[in-house]
Amino acid sequence: MPTPSTAAEHIQDLGAYVSASPSSFHAVHEAARRLDTAGFTGLDELQPWPEPAAAAGKFYVIRDGALIAWVVPAGAGPTTGFNILGAHTDSPSFKLKPKPTTGKFGWLQAGVEVYGGPLLNSWLDRELQLAGRLVMRDGTQHLTATGPLLRFPQLAIHLDRAVNEGLALDKQQHMNPVFGLGDPAGEDLLGLLADRVADAEVDPAQIGGYDVVIADTQAPAVFGARGEFFASGRLDNLSATHAGLTALVAHAGTPVPDGAPIAVLAAFDHEEVGSASRSGACGPILEDVLVRISDGLGASASQRRQAFAASFCVSADAGHAVHPNYPERHDPANRPVLNGGPLLKINANQRYATDAAGAALWARLCTDAGIPYQEFVSNNVMPCGSTIGPLTATRLGIRTVDVGVALLSMHSARELCGVEDPHRLTAVTRTFFRTAA
Ligand code: ZN
Repeated sequence: MPTPSTAAEHIQDLGAYVSASPSSFHAVHEAARRLDTAGFTGLDELQPWPEPAAAAGKFYVIRDGALIAWVVPAGAGPTTGFNILGAHTDSPSFKLKPKPTTGKFGWLQAGVEVYGGPLLNSWLDRELQLAGRLVMRDGTQHLTATGPLLRFPQLAIHLDRAVNEGLALDKQQHMNPVFGLGDPAGEDLLGLLADRVADAEVDPAQIGGYDVVIADTQAPAVFGARGEFFASGRLDNLSATHAGLTALVAHAGTPVPDGAPIAVLAAFDHEEVGSASRSGACGPILEDVLVRISDGLGASASQRRQAFAASFCVSADAGHAVHPNYPERHDPANRPVLNGGPLLKINANQRYATDAAGAALWARLCTDAGIPYQEFVSNNVMPCGSTIGPLTATRLGIRTVDVGVALLSMHSARELCGVEDPHRLTAVTRTFFRTAA
């Protein structure tokens, strides 16, 4: 579809993106599909990449559940800086274990591990699906998504009279979703996953490995007295991945000023589990790609360092709006609201990478984009989470600022944001991509 131009169109498109992206592998696949439609060229890490004469243009590369996409303007040279929008493709969930088909008392159940930090209670009593990638013994890969299949059924209140004084869920004992009735010895969840592969006939006996997670199947929805709210799974952090993707596609179709930077979307996997992987922000993927782009522009090692010194990373990840029922959990003076604009995230202990220079750049970008923004800082007794921002800053020495869309219910199966804020994050990202920092 064309680039969404209003907040209403944008939120519908975000909903479509989230629905097409039940796993990180789907999120990069759907991003690649959109980039292909916009005329980007997918590059293979195993092959040579364009030489200086052909390096200007729009490209992307996928590594597992991560994607890096970029636009090199015609005037770019060996010392041109990179303006990087960093985000992540994964969300807190549950991951399918080995020997996944279990069950008892006539129930079929799936064996799952907890992935990251989901709000366990929010996953109860929902129609859930399995989604991810299957890797065959010969190394070929297929995406699979089952549609509604499983549920974590909550215990009836009659059997747990004290539940409203405090629900305690044991991650091993209580988080075994049901997916059918029958004898687990005669069933094979992998056969079901193989059946739901859309693009090929898959023999379950040939599945050598799988990265499969649980995702909610309920469609996203706009609601509220004036349609001001948007409810969806995986807003942390597909709200930012989608903003970066949409902004990059729009940027690629717009003339840029002389001296414009190389615009980069870096969508990492595994942020929710600490980012230490070959497709995570602690790994080398971004540096690997930036070095190859820089090689393509004929940069010497020293010129590459100049380019890195001229670069900026906007690390975009969901943050917290003030919760009206728990105001004491927030800083008394800084109380972000939904639809108040994207957050500038600040933390003295470098859980966020924002510093004064990053804050100043963000203020300038938001003014230039014509959007409001609001500051987030934690209450001193509520340590905040972290993001990919400090990781990329530490790895590459690139100036970094942490920002993101304000949510309630972060890490719920169904999170909540304002309908205006994802569109604004996209607008400021478009401005960022064309602004030498
Ligand atoms: Zn996040």
